[in-house]
Amino acid sequence: MTLEEHPSVCAFDCPDTCSLSVTVENERIVRVRGSMAAPFTDGVICNKVAQDMAGFVHGERRLLHPLRRTGPKGSGRFERISWDAALDEIHQRVGDVIRRWGAQAVMPLNYAGPHGFLAGDSMSMRFFHRLGASQLYRRSLCGGVRSEAWSGTYGAVPGCPPEFAEHAKLNVVWGNNATVANLHLVRCVRRAKRKGSRLVVVDPLRTKIAEQADLHLALRPGTDTLLAWSLAAALERAGALDHGFIAANVLGFDEFMALAREWPSSRAAEACGVPEQQILTLAGWLAEADPLVLAPGNGLERGRHGGSGIRAAIALPALLGKLGKGSGIALGAGNSFPKTTARLQRPDLAPEFTRTINLIDVGRHLAQDDLAPPLRALFIYNHNPIVVHPDQNRMRRGLAREDVFAVGIELAMTETMAHCDLVLPAASHFEIDDLYPSYGHHWLQRGEPVIKPVGESLPNTEIFRRLAARFGFDEPCFAATDAELMDDAIDPDDPRLGGVRPSRIPITNATEMRGRDGRPMVLFENVFPATPSGRIELKSETLAKKWGEAALLPSWHERHSPRPLMLISPASDKRISSTLGGLPASAAAPPLRMHPSDATARGLASGARVRVWNELGEVILSLTVTDAVAPGVVASEKGAWLSTSPTGQTISALVSAEMRADLAEGACFNDTRVEVGPA
Ligand code: SF4
Repeated sequence: MTLEEHPSVCAFDCPDTCSLSVTVENERIVRVRGSMAAPFTDGVICNKVAQDMAGFVHGERRLLHPLRRTGPKGSGRFERISWDAALDEIHQRVGDVIRRWGAQAVMPLNYAGPHGFLAGDSMSMRFFHRLGASQLYRRSLCGGVRSEAWSGTYGAVPGCPPEFAEHAKLNVVWGNNATVANLHLVRCVRRAKRKGSRLVVVDPLRTKIAEQADLHLALRPGTDTLLAWSLAAALERAGALDHGFIAANVLGFDEFMALAREWPSSRAAEACGVPEQQILTLAGWLAEADPLVLAPGNGLERGRHGGSGIRAAIALPALLGKLGKGSGIALGAGNSFPKTTARLQRPDLAPEFTRTINLIDVGRHLAQDDLAPPLRALFIYNHNPIVVHPDQNRMRRGLAREDVFAVGIELAMTETMAHCDLVLPAASHFEIDDLYPSYGHHWLQRGEPVIKPVGESLPNTEIFRRLAARFGFDEPCFAATDAELMDDAIDPDDPRLGGVRPSRIPITNATEMRGRDGRPMVLFENVFPATPSGRIELKSETLAKKWGEAALLPSWHERHSPRPLMLISPASDKRISSTLGGLPASAAAPPLRMHPSDATARGLASGARVRVWNELGEVILSLTVTDAVAPGVVASEKGAWLSTSPTGQTISALVSAEMRADLAEGACFNDTRVEVGPA
């Protein structure tokens, strides 16, 4: 049989959005490599995608037909049914819910499984808007805090391209487990290091990239604000601030610095748990580095002070006047694309005053039935809430309700799907047309199917097109083809497309989102702050209006807990959150890492089975004793499936769904207190 090579794009929830070359034999994926189509990803991809895609697409968990549940929720007992029977049943049962409770008793429960415009949310949102279903605020789960902090400070603009890291004299990688979750940034940083530049990593965990750093500040989780304030104060004392740039471009300098001066390096060192000399060294390096690149990751947003930490950190280049001319902050990449989301998703179809529900609250609303009207029908797609939501046990109780009709749309039989009444097989990103922006770089890509949909699976767009037809939605927007949806996803008249419609851009090379002057988009060169004042807003009325008066400026408050250990949950090199968690490479639970002093105090040794618990749940893990975590901190990778755990609980079971970050009502995964003992 002949082997065929096809261009493709990685759709997983990862900032790198790699271009791929896929080898296909007889409609089966046999090999996936990186391609040169996107210069930033440059032919290199992560091991998990290089090794696991045949199993992901053709493995034994792949869903091949629509299924109807025949056992209790969670039992995993299903029977095969036809697409017609599945769509008829959905129409009947969702119709019953609407007749009894109203349309807002129906809700999509989705997140960011695939990252293409079409599979992400296109026809699906048209369907739910037209249905009048409750709307979902999704960004609280991840990314929303960082994006609010960024847009509150700089506006909805891109920072600098990540490629800038390659030419920086100093790269500061902050709360970014980049080796696992931002691979191509690491390649740029390494190339810069080979040319003699410095690398500083700020992370509670000694990650791989931290091992390669010239300086690693292993601060206590959640103290990023204090570190950034202290650096600002030290830079001011050293006379390193660019007062000319600040006077022209920064709003809220005095108020910000008044907070920062409260944290001299000695005080911050104690609160952050790092040597004072490290703070002073970093301040000195920040002052002298030119160009300087700051690359904040998702790690620092996942706590009560997440928004403040990011705002304080991204203020530093502004205080130094180091934006443009090779310097910048590698954030806001998603703003480089001319998205036309309203045209794609049609919020105008939704009835006025439709309620919006925070994703993090869904577990409570289901388990406690505390809404009027209550949630009685769910469509769960691109998402694995049982594994990834905080307060896993409550979410599981909620999804186990027999009086909530749940439709699942997925590639594989996950533990969440096992709680659904009907499961519809979705096509993977290797089987569909889609258009791909990125949240980590400025290259737009398009992908076409490299194989036919496996089994009876269908693209998400077609599933919701058929659902719309079943519900009698006959507006022309429900007949839109995938090509038309792509043309609705971004502005076809954007000059950077060169007159080519989005649905026709080449699949063999990525299109760079350049500025009007034809050069890469760079803040303070061809992009300027898009805040209400037109300045960099260290003090933000916009954030205060959206998230409460306390959000006017970054803030920080000590928190006391009876539980002595802080649990953090970094990304895994085997999964993308919970995606790929059902494959053999993820069959074992990730270990719990603990500092030797904490292990000795509890009489624990490497290899021991330990119980990790708090008031929300308990997880059994094997212990790795290591000084890669600081005293008082324990770490275990996120995204493992429940099947890896003897208690049927994973670390999400220990995370509070009530605690919220200071922006975006974000989840606080890295603000979790636990105790650990022998199992
Ligand atoms: S998961 Fe990330 S690094 Fe891996 S191939 Fe996909 S986009 Fe690239």
